[in-house]
Amino acid sequence: MAIEKRYEGKEQYYTLVCDRCGDEVGYFDDFQEAVDEKRRYGFRSFNIDGIWEDVCADCQDTVQYKRGTATAADDFGGLI
Ligand SMILES: [Zn+2]
Repeated sequence: MAIEKRYEGKEQYYTLVCDRCGDEVGYFDDFQEAVDEKRRYGFRSFNIDGIWEDVCADCQDTVQYKRGTATAADDFGGLI
């Protein structure tokens, strides 16, 4: 679960972190808000060999491609 707690001076907040590329998006006051907003930011959870990874929109194509579930791999061929 790549929702991480961050500190900014005295403030604390939560952010979404992609388990693939490490990109951070969002700024949430509490953990539950981050969970609720995850989908809105394009993040999805994948169970990869028994480990849950949160993956940003940019990385989802590579995950699906590796798992052999992509049907449009050719469409993304230039990006991989
Ligand atoms: Zn990513």
